[in-house]
Amino acid sequence: MPGPSRKNNRPRSRSAGAAIICLLILCASCGSQPSPTQIPTPTIFHPSPTATSTDTATLTPSTTPSPTPESYARQIPILEYHYTTYHFSDDVSMTTEWFQSQIRWLAVNGYTTLSAEQLSAFLEGKNTPAKSVVLTFDIGTAEHDDFSNNIIPVLKQYHFHALFFVVTNMINDACGVKNKVCWEELKDWSSQGLISVESHGVYHPDYVTITAAQQREDAGTARQIITEKMGRTPIGFAFPYDSFNNGAAQVIKSIGYQFALAGNTRADRSVHLGDADRYFLPRVYPYSNPKIYPVIYGTSGKTFDQLISSDSAAQYVATATPQESPTGTVTPQASATEPQSYIQFCTKINQMVNAQDRLHALANLPLSTDISAQTQSKLSKPVIFKPSCNVIAGNVPRGIVLHATRGTLVATIGEFQQPNATSAHYIIDRDGQIYQMVPEGLGAFHASCGDSRSGCIPSCPLCERPDGAFLQPYLQSVGIELVNDGQLVDTTAYKGLIYEDYLTSFGYRYWEDYPDAQLQALVLLVNDIRARWGIPLDLVVGHYRINNNTDPGPALNISWYRTGNPPRAPIFTGP
Ligand SMILES: [Zn+2]
Repeated sequence: MPGPSRKNNRPRSRSAGAAIICLLILCASCGSQPSPTQIPTPTIFHPSPTATSTDTATLTPSTTPSPTPESYARQIPILEYHYTTYHFSDDVSMTTEWFQSQIRWLAVNGYTTLSAEQLSAFLEGKNTPAKSVVLTFDIGTAEHDDFSNNIIPVLKQYHFHALFFVVTNMINDACGVKNKVCWEELKDWSSQGLISVESHGVYHPDYVTITAAQQREDAGTARQIITEKMGRTPIGFAFPYDSFNNGAAQVIKSIGYQFALAGNTRADRSVHLGDADRYFLPRVYPYSNPKIYPVIYGTSGKTFDQLISSDSAAQYVATATPQESPTGTVTPQASATEPQSYIQFCTKINQMVNAQDRLHALANLPLSTDISAQTQSKLSKPVIFKPSCNVIAGNVPRGIVLHATRGTLVATIGEFQQPNATSAHYIIDRDGQIYQMVPEGLGAFHASCGDSRSGCIPSCPLCERPDGAFLQPYLQSVGIELVNDGQLVDTTAYKGLIYEDYLTSFGYRYWEDYPDAQLQALVLLVNDIRARWGIPLDLVVGHYRINNNTDPGPALNISWYRTGNPPRAPIFTGP
């Protein structure tokens, strides 16, 4: 748990701990130029601004029907742009030239750009051409001239369509003021079929740090404003900073939006036919650094064309029944992050002085989940990534250390993303949502003995190497934090589940109990880690087994029968 008790043991100093999570994001560039001889005729799809484009017939190329079966997309990429000279950091930047080459590549390779309505239909399971892509622009800065001089002309040139997610506060009523985009222009571009205006909120707050009421106010007001100004109700929402949680997704859904976009929400970064999670859809960041271009930053060496091609490769060929039922299930490819490249990215991020820059870069870290595809398919919610750079090379897990946060999810994520603070590999919220913050192959600063073996209790099972030499527990374990209030001094006003420890084994009688959804996720996660690292059950331990902490407390009966009230059979059984 990230409280004072751990502070004494933490290996590095820690800075102040407000949870400021943000992320704007972008990425970069692209790729190989196709040779002139292989240029096919672009598939031109020019949506009508007024037509309801959910009809799949409008997606069919208007040429004579091909005698060969039509192929359709199983998954498609949504590209996240801001403006063409976006420079968030050295690694997260765009140039006008890169942007133009990326869009040109899409055109000459026969890609279709989807409207918001077509994306929504695809999410519901309707077919769309195999080579489909969604272009999105998050508009929260005064970059009118770039839109007018670079972006709109390119969309026009290739007959492409884009979704403009606007921060309504940043759109001007009067045109020609301070490089701001104005509503009249948006209407003009929209009437030409070049764009639709979707919602990025009113003032661009981080949805993870504001209340549900504030989320509703921001996203609901933006929807009203856009409806009034554009004469069309936006159906898509893009989370500011790509930052979201389940609660925020529910709010967006309840307001009436048909889908919501974030960033790095799943390993494969693409949206799926009949997507089960349409309120936190991932986007591909096409940004990079001039030094590695045309490789896109944060992609393990992929260029733009490789990124897009790999998404588009997942297609199916229509047979007798062209409208196949949606797959429904999402099976992201589980690929462990290369620890070395993660460390390299973190080295750069840890040099960033500006806190906001740092958090933006963190959001773009190439973290993918270590959890097996099989276990992922059993989780009630897909894993969410909240990368932390509080990492150290050389973790070889022999055990698993379970913690309780004694604080909120938001505060914990905030602390773990602070520079030089603690961290853990995973956090599990009360509703069973798993967050991964650190690759298992790297150490996270969770259970520490400080400078020496004597900093931990004598019976610690993970404080020596097998040969007896002192080794920090955080270099031989995976750390999992459970969001939980721990001991309850006053239960009279307490609303959550309560466990009463008749033995007062840690000096307290009442503790928050762990909800079933949280325990179910814990069991799936722990068993998955155990199987991959060969960890025996007796090395799945609470933090109190390492040093004199109380977490995760007596309510979490790992492998023993829990007496007290209510009693409970062991959470884990077997060897
Ligand atoms: Zn702990």
